[in-house]
Amino acid sequence: MSSAPQEPESRQAKAAKIAASPANYKVCEGCDSIVGAGAVLCPNCHSYRFDASAERVIQQANALGSREQTSVTAGDLS
Ligand SMILES: [Zn+2]
Repeated sequence: MSSAPQEPESRQAKAAKIAASPANYKVCEGCDSIVGAGAVLCPNCHSYRFDASAERVIQQANALGSREQTSVTAGDLS
């Protein structure tokens, strides 16, 4: 965890950014996605239940940053 990511939008960089300001995000209770704090519905599963606690957001951000991509997004289907 000592090397800096080379791509500014890498998963790790994004996770670090989220973890640095957890108040701006919340975690979907349906699919564990991290969404913006202003989101009403989860863009992935359309759940409206979120966990906005900072510790949950940080925990989830760290999980995302430390493992390879686990979910398929539209961009991966090309
Ligand atoms: Zn969701």
